[in-house]
Amino acid sequence: LNMLLQFSRIDSMTGLYNLCTFQSVMEKELALAKRNGKPLVLIMADLDNFKTVNDSEGHQSGDDVLRQVAEVFSENLRAMDIAGRYGGDEFIFGLPETDISSAIEITERIREKVEAIFSDRSATTLSIGLASYPGAGRSLETLITAADKALYEAKSTGKNRLKAAPSYPWAEK
Ligand code: C2E
Ligand code: C2E
Repeated sequence: LNMLLQFSRIDSMTGLYNLCTFQSVMEKELALAKRNGKPLVLIMADLDNFKTVNDSEGHQSGDDVLRQVAEVFSENLRAMDIAGRYGGDEFIFGLPETDISSAIEITERIREKVEAIFSDRSATTLSIGLASYPGAGRSLETLITAADKALYEAKSTGKNRLKAAPSYPWAEK
C-alpha cells in the first residue's frame, strides 16, 4: 500500500512531485504564507529545444535528460522547497519564505548548472519564469498564470534566461 501511495504522489520518471501533489502542497504553503505574512515565489521552468533531443537522439536520451535536470533541482534546492513536474519538459517549483531577489539568485544558480551539464549539447538549456506572492498574485492559479507568462517572455526573448512577472505593490495590501 505504501508503494501505491508513493507512486500516486510522485512523478515516476523524475522522482519529483506530480502536478496534483504539487498543487495540494502549495495550497498549504500559500495559506501559511498568508497567515504568517511571508513571501513565497512560484517558478516555472521549461527545457529549451527538448523536442530536438527526442527527435534526433530518441526518447531514451530525452528521458535521461529529464532525469538529470530533475537531479539538478533536487540537489540545489533546500529540503523545504517544493519541486514538481508540470508535464512534458516543464517543471514547477515553490520557494516558501523566499523573496524575489533571493529566488532569482537560486534560479540563476540552477540555470547555470543545467547549461554546464549539457554544454556539449548546447541547445539543452532552461527558460524560467518567476512570480512572487503577494505582488504578482495571491492565488495559486494567478501565480501559475503569471509565472507562465514570464516563462513565455524568457522563451521569446532568446531562451536560456529568467524573467520575473511584474510585482504590484498595491496587490500586497
Ligand atoms: P546565497 O547562496 O547567496 O543565498 C542568499 C539567500 O538566498 C539565502 O540567505 C536564502 O535566503 C536564499 N536561498 C539561497 N538558496 C536557497 C534555496 O535553495 N532555497 C531557498 N528557499 N532559499 C535559498 P541565507 O539563508 O541567509 O544564506 C546565506 C548564505 O549562506 C547563502 O548565500 C550561502 O552562501 C550560505 N548557505 C546557506 N545555506 C546553504 C546551503 O545549504 N548550502 C550552501 N552551499 N550554502 C548555504
Ligand atoms: P538543504 O538546506 O536541503 O539544501 C540542499 C542543497 O541546496 C544544498 O546542498 C545546496 O546545494 C543548495 N542550497 C540550499 N541553500 C542554499 C544557499 O543558501 N546557497 C547556495 N549556494 N546553495 C544552497 P549542500 O550545500 O550540500 O548542503 C546540504 C545540507 O547541509 C543542506 O540541505 C542544509 O541542511 C545543510 N547546510 C549546508 N550549509 C548550510 C548553512 O550555511 N546553514 C544551514 N543552516 N544549513 C546548511
